[in-house]
Amino acid sequence: MGCYLQMNGFDTEIFGMHSLPGGLCTAWKRQGYTFDGCIHWLMGSGPATNLHRMWRELHAVQGRRFVEWDEYLRARTSGGQTLTIYTDPDRLEQEMLRLAPEDGKLIRRFCQAIRSLSAADLPVATEKMGLFERLGYILPWIRLAPLLKTWSCMNVQTFCSRLKSRALAEALGALYGGEGSMPDFPVSGLIMMLGFMHKSCCGYPIGGSLEFARAIERRYRELGGRLRYNARVERILVEEDQAVGLVCAGQEHRAEEVISCADGHATLFDMLGGRYLSPAQRTAYEAGTCMISRWARCSRWKNRSCWRTGRSRSGAWACACSASTRPWRRKARPRRS
Ligand SMILES: Cc1cc2nc3c(=O)[nH]c(=O)nc-3n(C[C@H](O)[C@H](O)[C@H](O)COP(=O)(O)OP(=O)(O)OC[C@H]3O[C@@H](n4cnc5c(N)ncnc54)[C@H](O)[C@@H]3O)c2cc1C
Repeated sequence: MGCYLQMNGFDTEIFGMHSLPGGLCTAWKRQGYTFDGCIHWLMGSGPATNLHRMWRELHAVQGRRFVEWDEYLRARTSGGQTLTIYTDPDRLEQEMLRLAPEDGKLIRRFCQAIRSLSAADLPVATEKMGLFERLGYILPWIRLAPLLKTWSCMNVQTFCSRLKSRALAEALGALYGGEGSMPDFPVSGLIMMLGFMHKSCCGYPIGGSLEFARAIERRYRELGGRLRYNARVERILVEEDQAVGLVCAGQEHRAEEVISCADGHATLFDMLGGRYLSPAQRTAYEAGTCMISRWARCSRWKNRSCWRTGRSRSGAWACACSASTRPWRRKARPRRS
């Protein structure tokens, strides 16, 4: 965000709570070991997708090698069977059928969806595209809409429950959707990830997460951005429902635009004191639904029957993406000289 604002003529300063860049995209050392819990699949790692252009503009991929997965994961069931998640949908289909021939129909549909989605690309910065370029990106997605709708409305846990083979369900649940991991992860997310892996655009960056974040930090500084670490924002200053600055270490800092890139809870509850929460957001946060997918779990869909399959364990129907909270979203203005 900071890099793109600088590129577009804004004079920016970032206040970060930690002493390092990256937020969740981080790693740390203990007793000679490096713990890197974050990036193991970076969408846009390879040049066959638009997102790669964005990482290039951020100087995050130049000179960096990526491990593109042929085999993403191997799960072993309690019965001693093995499932290998190949990123080639043909191999994956064979592998799943080997373990669960009785689930042939569902397996073929799933692998076909990976093939179809891997052929489409995600548009970046559509507002900068001409009409024909925009149509070139949008039309394939319109064609894929029924497929997306089907798989977005189902989480991995539900998908597993529809499988006749308990071995395949157990193995897939270990990938995403197990009770201890992300039971609400939509199948479309899994399909999209495997689709990007299939075209070698979803790899692991050699050097790890913190190095990746540091590259973007360098780019930001080169672009003239200013960074403060160990600077926790206590509150966003609001006047007449407009964000006009922030308070850090008891000091006011005024700005023409204020953009929070902190997590939603810190922004909405702490920095804004809960004053700009929509009922849907409040319900989502209070119910503790944290795996929120913009396309699968939006409260705008709450009356649709397909929502039943996506219902969370807590039973909450709401999500944070249908936000109408926008005190800081003023129209962008170029820097004044
Ligand atoms: C275990 C794990 C594995 C992951 N694996 C992948 C992966 O393989 N591929 C992938 O693409 N993504 C992965 N992710 C997700 C990815 O890390 C996040 O999507 C990404 O880091 C989100 O970035 P962000 O800047 O929006 O938010 P965050 O990373 O949450 O950054 C928010 C920042 O705001 C700061 N902040 C918070 N409150 C304040 C405050 N009051 N004042 C000042 N600063 C504040 C925080 O210190 C932090 O630096 C993974 C995440 C985790 C946890």
